[in-house]
Amino acid sequence: MHLILMGAQGSGKGTQAARLAPRLRLEHLSTGDLFREAIAAKSPLGQRVQPIYDRGDLIPDDLTVALVEERLDRIAADRAEGLAARGALFDGFPRTLAQAEALDALLARRGEAIAAIVEIDVPMDQLVSRLSGRRVCPNCGTTYHVEFNPPKQAGVCDVCGGTPAQRDDDKPGPITRRLENYRTQTAPLLAYYRERGLLTRVDGAQDIELVTQAILDAVGPRLADGATSGTSDGPVRDEA
Ligand code: ADP
Ligand code: AMP
Repeated sequence: MHLILMGAQGSGKGTQAARLAPRLRLEHLSTGDLFREAIAAKSPLGQRVQPIYDRGDLIPDDLTVALVEERLDRIAADRAEGLAARGALFDGFPRTLAQAEALDALLARRGEAIAAIVEIDVPMDQLVSRLSGRRVCPNCGTTYHVEFNPPKQAGVCDVCGGTPAQRDDDKPGPITRRLENYRTQTAPLLAYYRERGLLTRVDGAQDIELVTQAILDAVGPRLADGATSGTSDGPVRDEA
C-alpha cells in the first residue's frame, strides 16, 4: 500500500513526508534525496545525473524508475522480515506521465496498489519564497526555512547539530526552470490521477501542522490501520 504526495517544488512534500511517514508506517521515498545521495557519493549514477540536476531539469525516466523499483524491492524485503513499513510514501515521484505509467505497471506486476494521492496546493508566489529560503541539513536531511520554519538556534540543526545549507538547485535560475518543468511535465499528471478517482487536494498555504492534519483527514479512511501509530510529533488521532 503506497501513498503519493504531489505538488510543485516547495509545496511542502518533503516536510510533510517526514512528519507523515512514521505516523502512517510508510517509508519516505524521495527520488530527489536518492539523486542527491548519489551525487554526494560521486557514484556512476551520481556523476551521470549531476549536470541535469544542477540545471534543474528532470533526470531521464528510465534511470528514475529503476531507482524507485530498487527501493520498492528493499521495502518489500524489509516487510518480509517483519520490519515496520507497509509501503512507500512517494515524494517527488512520479513527475512525468511516463513515470506514472511505469509505476502503474510495476505495481501491477508486484500485486501492490496506490492507496491515495494527495496534491499539496500552494500559490506560485509562495513557492518561490519557500524555495529561496529553504535550508537543508547535510547530515540528517531535516528541512528548514530561514523565515517560515527556522531551527531553534539560527544555523544549527535541531536534530543533529549540523549546519543547514542552501541546495544548489534552490538558486534563482534553477528555481525558475524547475517550476516551469513542473507546469509542463508534472502538472498534467493531476488529471491522470483525478480520472482514476485517487486524487485529493489539500490547502498547502497554511501552517505545517495544519497541512499534516488535512492530509491525515484526507487519507485516513484509506490508510486507517497505520494512522494509529504515534510519533514524537504529538498525539495522533485515531482515523479508524
Ligand atoms: P518540497 O519537498 O515540496 O520541495 P519542502 O518540504 O522542502 O518542499 O518545503 C519547501 C520550503 O518551504 C522549506 O524551506 C520548508 O521549510 C518550507 N515549508 C514547508 N511547508 C511549509 C508551510 N506549510 N508553510 C511555510 N513554509 C513551509
Ligand atoms: P526534489 O528534491 O524532489 O525537488 O528533486 C530535485 C531534483 O532531482 C529535480 O530537479 C530533478 O533533477 C531530480 N528528480 C527528483 N525526482 C525526479 C523524478 N521523479 N524524475 C526526474 N527527476 C527527478
